Amino acid sequence: MTEREDEGPGNFVEDLVREDIAQGRYARPVTTRFPPEPNGYLHIGHAKSITLNFGLSKLQKGGKCNLRFDDTNPVTEDPEFVESIQADVRWIVGDEATFDVYYASDYFEQLYEWAEQLVKKGLAYVDSRSEEVIRETRGDFHKPGVNSPFRERSVEENLDLLRRMRAGAFDDGAHVLRAKIDMQSPDIKLRDPLMYRIKKAHHYRLGDAWCIYPMYDWAHGQSDAIEGITHSVCSLEFVNHRALYDWFLKALELEQPPRQIEFGKLALTYTVLSKRRLKRLVDEGHVDGWDDPRMPTIAGMRRRGFTPEALRNFCERVGVSKNDGAVDISLLEFELREHLNETSPRVMAVLRPLKLTITNWPEGEIEHFELQNIPNDDAAGTRKVPFGRNLWVDHDDFLEEAPKKWWRLAPGKEVRLRGAALVTVNEVVKNAAGDVVELKCTWDPESRGGSAADGRKVRGTIHWVHADSAIDAEVRLYDRLFAAEDPYEGGDFLAHLNASSRQIVSDCKVEPSLADAVAGTRVQFERTGYFVVDRDSKPGAPVFNRTIALKDSWAKIAKKQGKN
Ligand code: ATP
Ligand code: MG
Repeated sequence: MTEREDEGPGNFVEDLVREDIAQGRYARPVTTRFPPEPNGYLHIGHAKSITLNFGLSKLQKGGKCNLRFDDTNPVTEDPEFVESIQADVRWIVGDEATFDVYYASDYFEQLYEWAEQLVKKGLAYVDSRSEEVIRETRGDFHKPGVNSPFRERSVEENLDLLRRMRAGAFDDGAHVLRAKIDMQSPDIKLRDPLMYRIKKAHHYRLGDAWCIYPMYDWAHGQSDAIEGITHSVCSLEFVNHRALYDWFLKALELEQPPRQIEFGKLALTYTVLSKRRLKRLVDEGHVDGWDDPRMPTIAGMRRRGFTPEALRNFCERVGVSKNDGAVDISLLEFELREHLNETSPRVMAVLRPLKLTITNWPEGEIEHFELQNIPNDDAAGTRKVPFGRNLWVDHDDFLEEAPKKWWRLAPGKEVRLRGAALVTVNEVVKNAAGDVVELKCTWDPESRGGSAADGRKVRGTIHWVHADSAIDAEVRLYDRLFAAEDPYEGGDFLAHLNASSRQIVSDCKVEPSLADAVAGTRVQFERTGYFVVDRDSKPGAPVFNRTIALKDSWAKIAKKQGKN
């Protein structure tokens, strides 16, 4: 029994693969692949495919999952994307996982040889009409296709034309190679599909070595076969490619051919996932690039402070479906909070600083309180946090006229400064405009560490930062990029952009332990949320991205609107 079997219900793809293993369908161990086209950055939908494929490969000893760049379209591909995809896959699967990297473009020679084989068998021919005409004569659901006048070309003529196509003797569009299947097939994909088209384009890896490029259907299954893939898992839109997938493998008489299994793409509420649309967000400047922390790209989520564990847990949790329904984004946020709660050291940071002075604390005297980094986790250790007469607290934690159940700062109310002291506001200082600029307090000298010597209860606990040793920081408060549950509603997804998806707060005060925190460091600002140090940070001037607030404020909004 594998480890995963203990984790509860699997998914239907897993069930199918298990069946094949049980029945010994393949002489080789389960082999899967993740086959991105290097034409953009990976997003969370790809993460779903990655975790699924890597998960399947672990169902059997010796199993593996390949990363294969499906780089058969020279026009849209770019080495920048190859690099980012590789880094993102590595990040998602974790350092312990191993995988090999392959390129479909490395199989061009083999594919071409196979194409000649099919020609020789009378199973492929060169059509010399334009793609437009070919499309028109293919028919549709109601109308059968019409045979091309070139369909009965001799093997010799086809071979000669194909070889000259490859050698660059013709212009783009002069000929195509087609599989010779059945123009009357009810399956339109089987109506003599294209295998090669002439495209005199520069390939990012192969340069000008080729001027014919394989179509997706011709390249994909054969690439799977070359790699010994057993289970070729893809999303639902490929269901109607399956018969053709099988036809090619059969025509080539390949043994133990891979099996295609389709599953429902992951979609998320409040989120747009297609690369084409994500590219628009980037190109039109609605976000700051592919790794903008609001983007559902892996690069964006990383920068936002997501952990790979949270992402993997989410992918496991949502399972694998047979349709394309959207998953509630709060599920993702839940997994994120869960993992961050367990792993993020607590620190104190004040986002809207208000001066608090303890008038009965001696000037210049500093005490260090020892605070636990993660509650109930001794292994996570403690840190010493300086405390003194001059402090910062958050404006939001003070109300001059407090309602009944206000346990935070208000005139005459005793409040706990986390882990340090009990204080009471005696005087509220205002500027000429009437804004509160300082709170003058006294502390109970018997409350060192935050609890009263006489055991009296103080309900409210707030966070603080020692003013003399605080570090100035910029904090970027991120929220969902789209305000609508279904951003596609109404046809224009840009109309649903959330105008307050990013708020920059520039004069925050954080505790000195964060002075030299390196980019990628994740923390919880107590009572505020989970944050990560951004790469825009400078020594002594950190920048933090809010990964996620402590609580789900959208649930409250939805409840108010009666949507829950
Ligand atoms: P997009 O539609 O976002 O542009 P794509 O399908 O064109 O994505 P590819 O690079 O072709 O992107 O995809 C690589 C693999 O990821 C494919 O096997 C594809 O089925 C899978 N995949 C893409 N989007 C999702 C998704 N939302 N959920 C699950 N798998 C996905
Ligand atoms: Mg695609």
